[in-house]
Amino acid sequence: HQGATAEAPAGAERIGAGIGRISNLVLDRGEGSWLYTTDGEKYLDFSTGIGVTNLGHCHPRVTEAVREQLGKLWHAQVNIAFHGPMLELTKKLEKVMPKGLDSFLFVTTGSEAVEAAVKLARHATKKPNVIVFQGGYHGRTLLTMSMTSSGTKYRAGYGPHASGVFVAPHPFFALHSVPSQPDHAQWAVEQLEIMLQQQTAASETAAVVLEPVLGEGGYVPPAPGLLQGIRDFCDRHNLLFIADEVQSGFGRTGRMFAVDHSNVSPDILVFAKGVASGFPLAGIASRRALTAAQPPGSQGGTYAGNAIACAAANATLDVMMAPNFMETVAARGEHLRKGLEDLRARYPEVIQEVRGPGLMIGLEFHQVPKGFAQQMVKACLARGLILLPTGIFETLRIIPPLIVSKEECDAGISIFKDALEACIK
Ligand code: PMP
Repeated sequence: HQGATAEAPAGAERIGAGIGRISNLVLDRGEGSWLYTTDGEKYLDFSTGIGVTNLGHCHPRVTEAVREQLGKLWHAQVNIAFHGPMLELTKKLEKVMPKGLDSFLFVTTGSEAVEAAVKLARHATKKPNVIVFQGGYHGRTLLTMSMTSSGTKYRAGYGPHASGVFVAPHPFFALHSVPSQPDHAQWAVEQLEIMLQQQTAASETAAVVLEPVLGEGGYVPPAPGLLQGIRDFCDRHNLLFIADEVQSGFGRTGRMFAVDHSNVSPDILVFAKGVASGFPLAGIASRRALTAAQPPGSQGGTYAGNAIACAAANATLDVMMAPNFMETVAARGEHLRKGLEDLRARYPEVIQEVRGPGLMIGLEFHQVPKGFAQQMVKACLARGLILLPTGIFETLRIIPPLIVSKEECDAGISIFKDALEACIK
């Protein structure tokens, strides 16, 4: 796979340097779990465009729905009129959302959706501050960048940051090197209680915002009891609980949403990425009691809830809601995890942990040189497998499309093993 080490293509110099990328591949087309370059090379895609193409590239049902919508109406601006695909989508979303979430606002990107969630929380509670978690990633706009602490690369040089954001310690980082580990959930809630006494009083805190599975922060699933602990904390102090499911949502974890692994319903659920298989659509799900008071016109956007994107989302949900779809995702996750666990058993001195639900798998190395995860990304790429690093420790995320076959999982593991053996030589 020559593309893995190719020079940047002509034209790259006209694209701003602020956009980093892990390769100089020039992609031409995609199909299922595979991406093809303009040079005709073929790559197994275990990055899914960062958790977006959950049904694989160019799923035929989505292609068909988009084609049909293309011939009818592209742009039906939300502040002007309703359109069919959005009305239909609200019906489908209500069916798959955690209990009680029956009101939807659509926007275009995950960052915008997080912003919309914070705006709603502030408006509904009449309180200004939000608590976020260490290691969280919520976007690149001013407010969401200010809420992001997965890495300083997203923030450095771009201050001053938005006010009203308080960062709670996350047990994964705070206790990462503590030998005797306390109960993480209890510890985290104690820290939240301390924050209300030291930094932002309950009377001025609107919400707690959490990624149920930390994404850019390192693929960290919630400690047992953490979501319930935060839910109870929010209820005790009259705060809203916002779950940012932009990366963990739409089947990634083997359930429709990561919160579905517990009995916890957030007050606001933020979604994007997987909802429309790659068409730009995002939004928030909340309760009518919260959204009803928002002044008309205070939410929206030119492309918010674009008709083609909504049509793509409807087809995406149809596929995901089919019988046994999620069971298969969970089973495929087990299969992939087992393969990676076998590798860990073979190389325990370099692979520390394989973690995460469903097909949202993180693999953390230890006792390796700094930059090892990046080196592994390159070594996998050179062998035809695309995957991404994550977090500040040496960690990879392994996120194939949810429709990945057993054989493709095995092919991925085999490439991974080769790459690992080359990197530790
Ligand atoms: N929240 C989470 C959890 C994310 O993973 C991301 C994107 N990686 C965002 C928000 C921001 O989404 P977008 O890039 O669409 O603005």
